[in-house]
Amino acid sequence: MLQKANAFMKQANLIDGAWVDADSGATIDVINPANGQKLGTVPKSGKAETARAIDAAHKAFQTFRKTTANERSKMLRKLHDVIMDNQLALAELLTLEQGKSMAESKGEIAFSAAYVLWFAEEARRTYGDVVPSPWADRRVIVTREPVGPIAAITPWNFPSSMLARKIGPAIAAGCTSVVKPASQTPYSGLAWGALAEEAGIPKGVINVVTGSASEIGDELCYNPLIKKITFTGSTEVGKMLMEKAAKTVKKVSMELGGNAPFLVFDDADIDRAVEGAIAAKYRNSGQTCVCTNRFFVQAGVHDEFVEKLAKASNNLKVGPGTEDGVQQGPLIDEKAVEKVEEFIADATANGGKVVTGGHRHALGGSFFEPTVISGATPKMKFMKEEIFGPLAPVFRFEKEEEAVALANDTEFGLACYFYTSDLGRAFRVMEGLKYGMVGVNEGIITTPEAPFGGVKESGLGREGGHQGIEDYLDTKYVCIGGLGL
Ligand code: NAP
Repeated sequence: MLQKANAFMKQANLIDGAWVDADSGATIDVINPANGQKLGTVPKSGKAETARAIDAAHKAFQTFRKTTANERSKMLRKLHDVIMDNQLALAELLTLEQGKSMAESKGEIAFSAAYVLWFAEEARRTYGDVVPSPWADRRVIVTREPVGPIAAITPWNFPSSMLARKIGPAIAAGCTSVVKPASQTPYSGLAWGALAEEAGIPKGVINVVTGSASEIGDELCYNPLIKKITFTGSTEVGKMLMEKAAKTVKKVSMELGGNAPFLVFDDADIDRAVEGAIAAKYRNSGQTCVCTNRFFVQAGVHDEFVEKLAKASNNLKVGPGTEDGVQQGPLIDEKAVEKVEEFIADATANGGKVVTGGHRHALGGSFFEPTVISGATPKMKFMKEEIFGPLAPVFRFEKEEEAVALANDTEFGLACYFYTSDLGRAFRVMEGLKYGMVGVNEGIITTPEAPFGGVKESGLGREGGHQGIEDYLDTKYVCIGGLGL
């Protein structure tokens, strides 16, 4: 283990093509959540290092913006190939620092590569317009230009693919970047620097800094050379970044928290719904922004669904992500475990019943049993708050309108799912749910071809799809007059 991954396990920051330590020499420890052991360190950089990374991105932008779409497309294709050539090594690194199973890590790395390939294709399609002119002697042209150096801040739950959705469109559009990965999972982020080097992407186009979130974040927000902030993480931090970015009127795109509902109607295929529920709940040990937070099940199928969901949850193999066949790894840290315990205590104090699980796993550390709670009610904490753990609360409902109203009763609006075999109901419910993404009879819906993102307090902008490059481009209107026509 880790022999191949060593090549990508960079314990330094990439600034202007050089791997460097923090000015102070300070470091942050990186811990393997499966066993609590230290994997290594990364620099604890701050304002000064970030300012230098921004200067490097600004300098690189002066030439990078002049590259052709075809050249950038080729760079991204090469980057895709380098990622896939090293899929296993990158997946091992990801599992070691994040905890998810090797199957999920390999999937995430392939997903990163798929986003890069998608944006290699989109790079060549950033069309403008030639608009019919209202003046006989003038022509009206609209072009698209890269916004400039961008800043990307990403979370620990998808430390590779969340950067793919930002670095991919940035390069495609002709932007340079300064990226800051999460402190708990910095190696998968730093690996993008090593991958970019191997793919021949010019120095300064991608800069990676790790360290103090507030110092780095403030410099990225306040420095006028940065033209756009793209953030994936909690709604709380996202709101703060939006306020700070307002000082220099930067573009912002925000992929924030979710509170996904999963509705099962009487006419649903229950086995299919349970299969979807397991995927939509326990992926990454429940630590994804699109993980189901609340199950709403119609009275006629409620008991059958709960029984089958509990059985399937109980069958999940829990263990270190590096072990064969493991389906659920540890949670990211002790705090995450305590949060799940609080949700369970709150639910049981208010009449909820633990059907399966409910405790820390016998493996110890931050492993937790896949848990199903029935008798959930809107008074319980998970009605409003993101669980981010392997806990599936099931609410019972009678009427379609009631379920849609409950599903919408949240400030979040990222992903939602529902299961029905009635076509009319499928359209009614799909149109009634106030969410950015809807899975109908599907529990896993993310793909590079489709726009990922939320409404309400789940964020702004979209990643993936043809929409995913929009935020990296400025629109320029050119009026050419005096043509004497
Ligand atoms: P988080 O605490 O908001 O952290 C995310 C990133 O923001 C990390 O890199 C963190 O750095 C940084 N950060 C923290 N405080 C900051 C500050 N004051 N200024 C600048 N940066 C700062 O979120 P998380 O706990 O890592 O991730 C879980 C959240 O992400 C959940 O709410 C989840 O729903 C959301 N998420 C959303 C999506 C989506 O696409 N919508 C996808 C995945 C996750 P440090 O690590 O150094 O603290």
